[in-house]
Parts: sequence; C-alpha cells; structure tokens
Amino acid sequence: MSGGAAIKLLVDGVSKRYGQVVALEPTRLEVRAGELLTLLGPSGSGKTTLLQLICGLVEPESGRIQVDGRDQTHTPVHQRDIGLVFQNYALFPHLTVGENVGFPLRMRGRPAAEIKARVAAALEMVRLGHLAARFPRELSGGQQQRVALARCFVYQPSVILMDEPLGALDKKLREHMQIEIKRLHRETGATIVYVTHDQEEALALSDRICLMNHARIEQVGTPAEIYQRPRTAFAADFIGLSTILRGRLRAGALDTPDGAFALPPDVAVREDTEAALVIRPERLTLDAGANAVAATVTETVYAGAETRLLLSLASGTPAVLRLPVGATPPPIGAAVTARWAPENAVLVPL
Ligand code: ADP
Ligand code: MG
Repeated sequence: MSGGAAIKLLVDGVSKRYGQVVALEPTRLEVRAGELLTLLGPSGSGKTTLLQLICGLVEPESGRIQVDGRDQTHTPVHQRDIGLVFQNYALFPHLTVGENVGFPLRMRGRPAAEIKARVAAALEMVRLGHLAARFPRELSGGQQQRVALARCFVYQPSVILMDEPLGALDKKLREHMQIEIKRLHRETGATIVYVTHDQEEALALSDRICLMNHARIEQVGTPAEIYQRPRTAFAADFIGLSTILRGRLRAGALDTPDGAFALPPDVAVREDTEAALVIRPERLTLDAGANAVAATVTETVYAGAETRLLLSLASGTPAVLRLPVGATPPPIGAAVTARWAPENAVLVPL
C-alpha cells in the first residue's frame, strides 16, 4: 500500500439513526484503491450499518458516498459496482458450484464463452476447479464460503464488502481462509472493506484498520500504527494486550494510585487532566529501578510461542507482561516489580 494511492471509496459525513438509536454518527472514511481495510469493533458499534450504507442497503440520513469520484448516495444496490460476501454464504442451492459462480456474469449478459472461461479462472483461484459440477449441499462450510468468494471476485466489482464472512467457520479453517483472502486480494488488487469483531483477524488481514466504537470511528491506521500508537485507551485495550495505568497529569508526570510515572518524551500534556499510560506486554520487564511498579503475580498464561504473566498492582489495576523466552515464571502470589522505559509507553487522554 503506497500512501499516495487514489481514493476508491469516499464516505463523507454519512450518518444513520434507528428511532432513538444512533447506529452511525456522521462519519468520514476514505478507502484507497487496492487496499484491504477492516472495520473492527465490538458488537453494536456500527460496522454492519456502515457497510450497508456503503452498498446502498440502507439510506443515509446525512452525507454522501462516492465510488471512483462518482456520487452513489442514491444509486440502488444492484446498480452499484459493489460485491458483497456475508457470513451465510447465500449460495443458490439448486445451482451447481460452477453455475453459482457464473450467476453474476449471466445477470450481466456476458457471452457464454467468456462466462465459461471466467468461472474456470475464479474457481481455480479459490482452488475448487475440480468441484464445479457439485451442488452447494455437497460441500463443506469452508468450501461453500470459497464458492461465495469466487462468485464475488468473478465479476471484478470496484469494491468488495465482506461482513464477518468467516464468522461461521471453526478457528483453524478461519485462519486458513484469512490467508486465502489475503492471497485473493493480492492477486486481484481488489479494494476490500472487511467487517470483523476479531482483533487477531483484523491484524492478520488488514492494510489498514478502521476501529469503531459507539457508532463512530475511534482510529484509522495500519495495524502497526494502532498497536504502537493507540490514540485512546479503548484502542489500546481492543487491539492487543496492554497495561493501562489511569491517573492525572501533574508536574510533568502521571499521578496514579500506584505511583507517579514519567511521561514519554515529547508529548504535549495539559496539566491536571485525566490520562492513561499504555504499556504493551513486551515492553514490561521484571526489574526494579526507576519507573517501576510493585505488583503481585496472579496468573501464568502459556500461549505456545510466548508465556504471559498476569499481575495485579496494589490498586487492583491488572497488568500483563511477556516473559523472555526460556525464563521461569515466578510463582502465583509472588511479589514482583515491573519496569518499563518511559519512551516505550504511550500516553492517551481519558
Ligand atoms: P455491528 O455490526 O458493529 O455489530 P450494527 O451496525 O449492526 O453493529 O448496529 C449498530 C447499532 O444500530 C446497534 O445498536 C443496533 O442495535 C442498531 N441497529 C442496527 N440495525 C438496526 C435496525 N434495522 N433497526 C434498529 N436498530 C438497528
Ligand atoms: Mg455486524
């Protein structure tokens, strides 16, 4: 993804309410040509609403939607050049796999020879070429979802929208399909907006993540940007693990119930306001010294590639630390000291 890519899809001041419920506050989002952008957020944060507004299933209350610079705000769904993939595969049960994939091309009146060639290519792309004659009921869930992907990619829509497409699959298959979707995205150069509530899925798939909370966008950035520079405590908490120390800014430090801690260098602060320091598990070490905090070990979590130590500070605030490879975890209940370098913490407003 180059920073200068053209804007494929523009959501400009778009909002939606259902009676008293604000489903989406006025929202601006730019999706770049060829990127895979995920809408990530908890249930009810407005992800599906934003997707439905983009494809035209829902009319916005305000704002406009542009694709390739053309206004689409009031264009009916079927006239928008937008492909949709949902969690339930919505395959036609009475059509074979090949006929399902060819359906969008037949609808568009493409010649038979072209349909045949493009269906074959699309099925090859999702590695189902050998199953073209089967019916959906003769396929596994993962295979059905791959047919749905092929049916969407086959007619090369300008923008592809996916709403939790892997939600019904088990974890192993979901991880496999994530890699498939990444490959399809790379091979086709499609612009994809992908909804998920699963932060790991978003981190694995995205060129950029649009993090949503309470019907609005919380932060947009690359996975690394959001992980390393969360702008809010919500962003820090939702993506990855972190220790969040809440307090008040006083005399160039953050005053918390567990002590006063140094601020990262070069941060602009307003004295006497509420803020939090965010520290990622790999930035905390079991050391004493300056900028350290006393804690009690509450749990050891063995996660295969790493072992995490869950701690509790004197105030009851939880903390999480990644043990160095090969280190023996201290016993549950042990009193320890956790330390970090001030430049490795991120200060967020509260
Ligand atoms: P998400 O996809 O992030 O889980 P949604 O966009 O589906 O969230 O919903 C956002 C909010 O709008 C929720 O509070 C939801 O209950 C409400 N909402 C969504 N669709 C409707 C609808 N058709 N009628 C009434 N309320 C709705
Ligand atoms: Mg949803």
